[in-house]
Amino acid sequence: MISSLIAKIIPYFPKPFVYIFAKKYIAGPSLSDAVNVTKSLMDMNGMSTIDALGEFVTTKEVAEHELGLCYQVLDSIKDNNLETYLSIKPTSVGLGIDFDYGYNNIRGLVAKAKEYGLRARLDMENSPYTDMTLDAYRKLRSEGFDNVGVVLQAYMKRSEADVKSLIDLKPNVRLCKGIYNEAPEIAIKDKQGIRDNYKKLLDLMLDNEFYVGIATHDEELIQYSLDALKRRNLPKKQYEFQMLLGVREERRNSLLKLGHPLRVYVPFGDDWFGYATRRLKENPQMVTHITKSIFGIGK
Ligand SMILES: Cc1cc2nc3c(=O)[nH]c(=O)nc-3n(C[C@H](O)[C@H](O)[C@H](O)COP(=O)(O)OP(=O)(O)OC[C@H]3O[C@@H](n4cnc5c(N)ncnc54)[C@H](O)[C@@H]3O)c2cc1C
Repeated sequence: MISSLIAKIIPYFPKPFVYIFAKKYIAGPSLSDAVNVTKSLMDMNGMSTIDALGEFVTTKEVAEHELGLCYQVLDSIKDNNLETYLSIKPTSVGLGIDFDYGYNNIRGLVAKAKEYGLRARLDMENSPYTDMTLDAYRKLRSEGFDNVGVVLQAYMKRSEADVKSLIDLKPNVRLCKGIYNEAPEIAIKDKQGIRDNYKKLLDLMLDNEFYVGIATHDEELIQYSLDALKRRNLPKKQYEFQMLLGVREERRNSLLKLGHPLRVYVPFGDDWFGYATRRLKENPQMVTHITKSIFGIGK
């Protein structure tokens, strides 16, 4: 009750206050911060994917600024020889302004990544952009860009049909639960229902030669995935685990120690507020931290 109330009001807290709790989820304000975090993950045999924070852009001016940042990320990955790729939020480079405009921006990035021998992934945003994002993905693949992946969300009722429609492409797909607040008509709302769908989609993907990014911190799903991989005796080039920076780091390290490929989502930039407030809302410890801070406990 208190938890959901705090989750609702957190976007209205002063930014410097939110930043105290948010900073563990973000590499820092600049690209060099994301590079340094990636290098320290590589020291542990881990990998990253770098996201220049920014989303739901409504003007071409801002979209072009975001696009410029994404090109800088690609240059930096190449120059530093990093085990990472670029995560692209489609609306941050203009997909929500106009499909052709956004597509051309995304295509330019994916083409540059290909020239450098790198990969990129289209993150999945909220439901108004699901079709456009999947259309952009399919169009990129039809143009021969096999260095690009996409994301499917287990809470979306449509995702099973989407998996089936992608089978022919043998795609590289990140499977996550989904983070946005979607209507019950199109999204599964109960926790166990989302988990069950995640398992079903994972099995479908693994049985159909998808490369799967298993993106979850949920122990039940991690265990299920480990069993599913073992049952199929799948090689390491067929999957990886993925986690968010700052979340369940001990579990992340234990998966790395077991020799599983594991990638951490590393966001950087000044535009951290939307990303960080979503993370804070899903953090079960958030209420304790905030209450302690408000009442000065532990100072
Ligand atoms: C690499 C990666 C990329 C993603 N990309 C997308 C995307 O493109 N589109 C999209 O809609 N969603 C994306 N997500 C978010 C995802 O959809 C979920 O919202 C998020 O991962 C939480 O779901 P969960 O499976 O970890 O389960 P949960 O049930 O939320 O979490 C399981 C457990 O993990 C711990 N935990 C989870 N979150 C936090 C936190 N913030 N702080 C502290 N502890 C926490 C808690 O112990 C919790 O009980 C991504 C997630 C990952 C890991």
